[in-house]
Amino acid sequence: MTVYRDLSAIVGRTPLLRLRHASESTGCEVLAKAEFLSPGGSIKDRTALGLLLDAEQRGLIRTGGTIVEGTAGNTGIGLGLLGASRGYRTIIFMPETQSREKIDALRLTGADVRLVPAVPYKDLNHYAHQARAYAATLNNDDAGSAWFANQFDNTANRDFHEATTGVEIWEQTDGRVDGFVCSAGTGGTLAGVGRALKARRPDMRIALADPAGSALASYVNNGELVATGQSISEGIGSSRITANFEGAPIDLAWSIPDDESVPLLHRLLHEEGWCVGGSSGVNLAGAMRLARELGPGHTVVTVLADAGTRYQAKLFNPAFLREKNIPVPEWLARAFPA
Ligand code: PMP
Repeated sequence: MTVYRDLSAIVGRTPLLRLRHASESTGCEVLAKAEFLSPGGSIKDRTALGLLLDAEQRGLIRTGGTIVEGTAGNTGIGLGLLGASRGYRTIIFMPETQSREKIDALRLTGADVRLVPAVPYKDLNHYAHQARAYAATLNNDDAGSAWFANQFDNTANRDFHEATTGVEIWEQTDGRVDGFVCSAGTGGTLAGVGRALKARRPDMRIALADPAGSALASYVNNGELVATGQSISEGIGSSRITANFEGAPIDLAWSIPDDESVPLLHRLLHEEGWCVGGSSGVNLAGAMRLARELGPGHTVVTVLADAGTRYQAKLFNPAFLREKNIPVPEWLARAFPA
């Protein structure tokens, strides 16, 4: 009998998928980890589990204690579900601009959700600062009662991806992988997988697919944090170098516009049946760019980070897409007539 005793046992070990259009049009094998199949619906379940296991091991969170975190949503959903299954309370600070579907999913986990204005990181009202300050207040009243997970600068995030996502990619491809590419929010996925793969094969190509409006591609290419444009993607891009991103072994970086990434994710759903979110579209665009850079015959891996249903009202809404000047495929316009 094979039985999993709780939620944490089925985080990770996601299937590796072949993306047909991306592979056929580049002459490469373009593969992706199906992270949207995780119990909380995203790759950030790994981050949540990695941070929580590290905190438990170090005695930073006590039985019945409170998890406090700032998140664009997915890490909060992972923490909320893991918290429920392990007997912790969860309090989440989140920018109010995030999708309704993610906010609802987070509330369903039982987390106490505090929506705050979306302001730059340098503003003390930024969601990450508010979460840190709130945990400190709880600990002032009752020492050791709260733990601030700190996904951006707690490198237990990157380390868990190095030990799980990166190793899984190596094993699932039997070591026949030439490059890995993804976008970065905290940078935990890219840095962790990059480290795992480079350690096994130093000439591995690691690439950043950065959404428009993020400063990270410019940082990798020119050493300067400069952002241009904007993107409807959520949970990715950054105006600063986090501790998780710092020192990541990145060889190439591109800024990817929405009118490149969103049509690719529409096509992925319509022709291959995978319904994924905006960051996965950016990852897919990046995987095709990396495949073209390497040339036919290579194998490129990326991640499908969460499900498209988490952004239904934006990514699959013809009126919203038209407002943003993103092409609306005919089948989508027919499925959702005005
Ligand atoms: N995709 C989605 C959907 C996310 O929620 C996040 C994290 N906020 C990322 C990608 C970025 O992953 P990481 O934090 O590991 O850079």
